[in-house]
Amino acid sequence: AKEQGRNTYCIFTEEMNRCLLERSELEHNLRQAIAREEFFLAFQPQVDQKTGRVVGAEALLRWHHKDKGLIPPGQFIPLAEESGLILPIGYWVLRHACAQNKAWQLAGYPPLRVAVNLSARQFQQPDFYDQVGRILKETELEPRYLELELTESLLMADAKAAAQTLSALRDLGVGIAIDDFGTGYSSLSYLKAFPIDRIKIAQEFVLDIVRDPGDAAIVETIIAMAHGLGLDIVAEGVETADQLEFLRTRQCQVMQGYYFSRPVPAEIFIEFLAENVAG
Ligand code: C2E
Ligand code: CA
Ligand code: CA
Repeated sequence: AKEQGRNTYCIFTEEMNRCLLERSELEHNLRQAIAREEFFLAFQPQVDQKTGRVVGAEALLRWHHKDKGLIPPGQFIPLAEESGLILPIGYWVLRHACAQNKAWQLAGYPPLRVAVNLSARQFQQPDFYDQVGRILKETELEPRYLELELTESLLMADAKAAAQTLSALRDLGVGIAIDDFGTGYSSLSYLKAFPIDRIKIAQEFVLDIVRDPGDAAIVETIIAMAHGLGLDIVAEGVETADQLEFLRTRQCQVMQGYYFSRPVPAEIFIEFLAENVAG
């Protein structure tokens, strides 16, 4: 039997029963996961092609389930969103990402920006801005070393409220990135309306960039537009030297993907930081 994801369908009634049971069991486990310290963060480097240095990291949540082992976020984040558990989990992620980043700085590594993924439900909390401020104070991390990754659909759900929250965060000094850019069916006008620092080219466009002229054209256009608007850019899901070369010759400077590294635990990520020091 499969774990429950949003796109899993249970067709037969006996299947349905089992599905519901597994689902509620998983939710029950998820509820205890923070207290049992079953979560950890994996960090994936973002590499500047001009300097070869790691300039940022994306923090990705990992759940080590007591019997099932590692459960991928695609399987439990939707459940966390539906049940509301994404709120405590989301704050856990934010606090740990900030604390880890500060710890690296205190250990003497050159500072870098850590990006955290946000769910709509978390971002839409009326006290979201206050919570971010509180976590930054508690962890003593300078706001410019935190970046928040949001999706287009999250921003569009309530554009007016989103614009206000983003402006407040920007005033605080926190960075804002649009995740999976180009996949959200939204108009481009929001790029001017919202205080955004960076867009992340969606993995699905990078995948076939070398073979598919359509994807190549989309990526070239996104890069040109980002430059025109003065936005920074990160390409996601870079796996091959060909993709890297394509992006580099189109003036996309910062990249993230398996070509450089998979997301790794903090203990391993410090090897990248050590290389930064070495030059
Ligand atoms: P995302 O934000 O688009 O994260 C990128 C995903 O692509 C990650 O999967 C990463 O491991 C994977 N990836 C990175 N480089 C490559 C590559 O070169 N090739 C391929 N094929 N994949 C690559 P992951 O860690 O399984 O996360 C899946 C999604 O779960 C994330 O997609 C994000 O939407 C969500 N997620 C992860 N952590 C959090 C979190 O703390 N909070 C929230 N709300 N969502 C999270
Ligand atoms: Ca992301
Ligand atoms: Ca992404």
